[in-house]
Amino acid sequence: MGTKIRWTNETWNPTTGCSRVSAGCKHCYAEQISLRFGRSKKPWTARNAADNIVLHPERLRKPYTWRTPKRVFVNSMSDLFHELIPDEFVAQVFAVMADLPQHTFQILTKRPERAAAWPGPWPDNIWMGTSIENRRVIHRLDEIRGCGAQTRFISAEPLLGSLTPIDLTGIHWVIVGGESGPGHRAMNHQWARDIRDTCLARGVAFFFKQDSGPRTEMRPWLDQMVWEQYPGALVPPYPAAALNEVAGSG
Ligand code: SF4
Repeated sequence: MGTKIRWTNETWNPTTGCSRVSAGCKHCYAEQISLRFGRSKKPWTARNAADNIVLHPERLRKPYTWRTPKRVFVNSMSDLFHELIPDEFVAQVFAVMADLPQHTFQILTKRPERAAAWPGPWPDNIWMGTSIENRRVIHRLDEIRGCGAQTRFISAEPLLGSLTPIDLTGIHWVIVGGESGPGHRAMNHQWARDIRDTCLARGVAFFFKQDSGPRTEMRPWLDQMVWEQYPGALVPPYPAAALNEVAGSG
């Protein structure tokens, strides 16, 4: 299955389900989709986590079916480092990733303390990121810095407040995005500009995913420029007008 998420090519969900941990989870799309389609019966509270988290060992072989190299978002519908996912299962997921160096696996967690304690091995095709939506959870930055991955990143999406000043030492990539969907919380563009400028000053890759808005992937530009950098690929931004297919979206 492909994905609309612009910074990846594929999603792979060896587990599904999660529980909310911070303000960025308020409108979790994975929860909304799971409830809408009956994959979860109960809201994603901590109390319901044991019912909502499901391991899918039958999906562990899925990455072996991809013939061309891909960037793969691991657990777009869950959090691989949720405390209820057993070490033994996380180890199986890591073994698959290590076995397929042609793919780049992008893990994103709101539980970076467990990622920092994870012993690995951490081959260089595993990128490890954490979500930071406001300064209340800025401690996640130190935790992700402490993990063994060779490429570490931040997803500031949904960006709900200023993160400035932010120390990007040991960080290789920052994704910024506003919240999408009904009831979305507006992103102040200055918060995004400040992060962009810090990335530029530090030589850290910057990816601007989307503005806040009622639909996902709206206005994927900042100050009319499209930023699609990746770790080790600091390509210049280009004008939003070049994005013909979405230029009319607002
Ligand atoms: S940690 Fe991620 S998957 Fe889990 S509830 Fe929060 S936003 Fe959703």
